[in-house]
Amino acid sequence: MEAVRKLNIAAPGDGRPPRAGKLVSLQSLAHVIGVKRKRGQFDFDVAIIGGGSGGYAAARTAAGAGLKIVVIEGGEEVGGLCILRGCMPTKALLYAAEVKHLAERAETWGVRAGKVSFDFAKVMARKNAQIKDFADFRVQQLNGKRFKFIRANARFLDAHTVELGRADLPVGQDARQRVPTKIVAKNFVIATGSSVAPSPLPQLNEIGFITSDDAIALKKLPKSLIILGGGAIACEFAQFFARFGVKVTLIQRSEHILREFDSDAGIEIEKVFRREEIQVFTGTKLLDAKRCFGGRNFVRARQDSEHSLVGFGKRGRKNGKWPRHRQCQNANQRAAHLHGGRLHRAA
Ligand SMILES: Cc1cc2nc3c(=O)[nH]c(=O)nc-3n(C[C@H](O)[C@H](O)[C@H](O)COP(=O)(O)OP(=O)(O)OC[C@H]3O[C@@H](n4cnc5c(N)ncnc54)[C@H](O)[C@@H]3O)c2cc1C
Repeated sequence: MEAVRKLNIAAPGDGRPPRAGKLVSLQSLAHVIGVKRKRGQFDFDVAIIGGGSGGYAAARTAAGAGLKIVVIEGGEEVGGLCILRGCMPTKALLYAAEVKHLAERAETWGVRAGKVSFDFAKVMARKNAQIKDFADFRVQQLNGKRFKFIRANARFLDAHTVELGRADLPVGQDARQRVPTKIVAKNFVIATGSSVAPSPLPQLNEIGFITSDDAIALKKLPKSLIILGGGAIACEFAQFFARFGVKVTLIQRSEHILREFDSDAGIEIEKVFRREEIQVFTGTKLLDAKRCFGGRNFVRARQDSEHSLVGFGKRGRKNGKWPRHRQCQNANQRAAHLHGGRLHRAA
């Protein structure tokens, strides 16, 4: 639906563009678009660039209104962010974490589950299998009869024409279909998604960090992890990793996590996180990040004008052993004093 809103089209009746956030109904869509089809002038009533959740929803809606639709998808895989690296994999992982969490507390419900252990490779394999099922289904939906689906990268030549270039297919895989070089459409929906935001600190680029894309594809759990940001995605990852035994520190700049929701919600989740031994630092500004000799990453942050060093993070293996370094140990000791979401002044 989000993508439908992106249609730069006139609202029915009054001729004004729809206000942001106003959804157009299925029935009104054809009217809204006001397509005057002249055979031969346009190949399609609507060309949708991007076959993710937004593009697919727009295509289904517009096709339901009787319009001639093409969806153009240029990514390496079909499915979009939600299925491949977003909503679906995170929910699959969170559910696994919840099963473990509940099994550990099964006595609460009068159930004896015994000693609970887990196999991280199997957790990830199940998530991958579920994503594959969802992605295969989306491919089927896109290749159905309701609209044309083209695997290509689109680039605007003018307001009604896109040039189609090769899709970013995996090496060795060719597009099975012949793709036209250009498409002329009366209207376009641009549903090309997003890219990972740049890191908030240049120092992070130097020491390295993982993004949500990397986090859902880990082969092995880290011992500890600092999560920068306290939005919904950050919270999901915090709980997932913590419930699988990773020492998690979450740093949020605003007063409470989940700042896009009512603060009551954020405050409750903070309590739950602390109960689950996640260190939550709110009202905390990130100042610096560095890697100690030995491979541990540190970030320096400020809370209530007090500076402190928040230890932990990823560390690398050297010759099969975890390296130790005085400076890092000192920093860890200081970090170990952090409690209750308050950062202590660095000594
Ligand atoms: C970890 C994580 C968890 C999330 N969890 C949730 C959740 O629980 N609930 C929720 O509502 N949202 C969630 N989201 C957000 C949600 O995944 C996105 O909002 C949604 O997938 C965006 O869909 P889209 O169709 O706009 O973009 P995308 O899914 O990114 O699709 C864009 C498509 O356009 C294609 N494309 C780009 N440029 C071109 C071009 N020039 N030509 C042709 N094709 C092109 C791309 O290959 C891509 O397939 C999550 C996101 C992340 C990262």
